[in-house]
Amino acid sequence: MPPPSPHTTPAAPARITILVDNAVNRAGLRAEHGWAVWIETGDRAVLFDTGQSDLVIANADALGLRFEALDAVVLSHGHYDHTGGLAAVLARARDGIRVYAHPAALQPKYRCTPAGSRPIGIPADGLAALHRPSVDLRAVEAPTDVAPGLWISGPVPRRHPEEVPEPGFNLDPAGRVTDPLDDDLALCLETPAGRVVVLGCAHRGVIATLDQVAALRPTARLQAVMGGMHLRSAAPSTLQWTVDALKHSGYERFLPAHCTGLPAVAALWAACPGQCSEAGVGKSTVAVNLAVPILALAAAPTTAAKDAAVTTPNPPKETPMRLAIPIADGRLSMHFGHCESFALIDVDPATKAILKEETLTAPPHEPGLLPRWLAEKGATVIIAGGMGQRAQGLFAEQGITVIVGAPAEAPQALAKAYLAGTLKTGSNVCDH
Ligand SMILES: [Zn+2]
Ligand SMILES: [Zn+2]
Ligand SMILES: [Zn+2]
Repeated sequence: MPPPSPHTTPAAPARITILVDNAVNRAGLRAEHGWAVWIETGDRAVLFDTGQSDLVIANADALGLRFEALDAVVLSHGHYDHTGGLAAVLARARDGIRVYAHPAALQPKYRCTPAGSRPIGIPADGLAALHRPSVDLRAVEAPTDVAPGLWISGPVPRRHPEEVPEPGFNLDPAGRVTDPLDDDLALCLETPAGRVVVLGCAHRGVIATLDQVAALRPTARLQAVMGGMHLRSAAPSTLQWTVDALKHSGYERFLPAHCTGLPAVAALWAACPGQCSEAGVGKSTVAVNLAVPILALAAAPTTAAKDAAVTTPNPPKETPMRLAIPIADGRLSMHFGHCESFALIDVDPATKAILKEETLTAPPHEPGLLPRWLAEKGATVIIAGGMGQRAQGLFAEQGITVIVGAPAEAPQALAKAYLAGTLKTGSNVCDH
């Protein structure tokens, strides 16, 4: 077993954006049966899976994500709905792009049912792209660090008889040789708000996967599990056992996606009230280097504000904080770019006390100036009503935690709610 990574927590902001999923969560994007997630952490960008087709390109273009900026691609396993966009992605990626996959992902794979069999492995163009000299293909046969705070589980041993493998996955078209899906792996993002586990399909079992990452690198804070849980055809007993185990897993949030299946999603929602969120293409979250729980900020414009309302958990205790709140008429200004002034509030997260408050006149509103100016003033968190994606990125670059969707209330009340972990954050009114 490898020692824990020396970089278990990224020093800089992280963001997760769903690029391909079976459902769509935002205007201007499309869905397909598949899965792909774009992860930015610090100055690194990593793509986990590539969806079924080149839809991943169109969705990334629409979201302004550039494949030229990718540092690495990680494949959760070799199925076509996770690797079908590989050729298109690698055609855009820079020379020397690292691609991480278990060697078994490159094997031919088949879906065999009484109705017949069909190939479901990596498409030929993807396999060819993987073997180009410009691609740095790395075999993942053990836990592997991809970027600071971002690591691959490596193979997941089966450990629970309750997690029954789905039949019909084979290594030969005649269906004689069962595919053990040795290639199946998960990606872990360590944030100060806790660990986020991104699943591909979890073919070796969702709970086996969570147990494996816990055994490899124990951590106290468990934030979220997102991705495909592959329970669509699971027997009711398997489904119920898995949902019970997730409920008691210690993770705070769940975003079941892709092939989880409606019965499992419904059961999980019922078992874990207030802990589940919809995934879907375009779902984007910011996890920054301080107190904000990852996945608590996602505010898709298609979601009604009251449905999207989430409660931010208590901030970490040891971090000194200066909150910045844009003000107009004594209350939070819903559009921070039009505010008159900023309240800067020093708080002690340990005692939940407000130590000091001052109000500064906002500087001229030039693009990109506010994040720099607030960073110079020592702000560590900005609580805003609405903020565009670009501005969020600029704050993130300054190491300032962004909280969007806060209500138009007095700054003291917002600071107290934030410290108490009761701040409601609804839709980001600028998220268009
Ligand atoms: Zn699969
Ligand atoms: Zn699946
Ligand atoms: Zn899948």
